Amino acid sequence: MYTIKCDSCGFELYRERFPKTVEMVSKTWGGVCPKCMSPLSSEPIRISLVRVR
Ligand SMILES: [Zn+2]
Repeated sequence: MYTIKCDSCGFELYRERFPKTVEMVSKTWGGVCPKCMSPLSSEPIRISLVRVR
């Protein structure tokens, strides 16, 4: 399972069996975290891709 969480608030932006690029996930949410409204598309990437069992 792959998850991508907001680096600012820990909100789970993506959780699936297959990895997805940070850019695609960012576009899905309109470029901002829906919880804390932090911009997700800015560089450097402030959200992390974490692989969990
Ligand atoms: Zn957030």
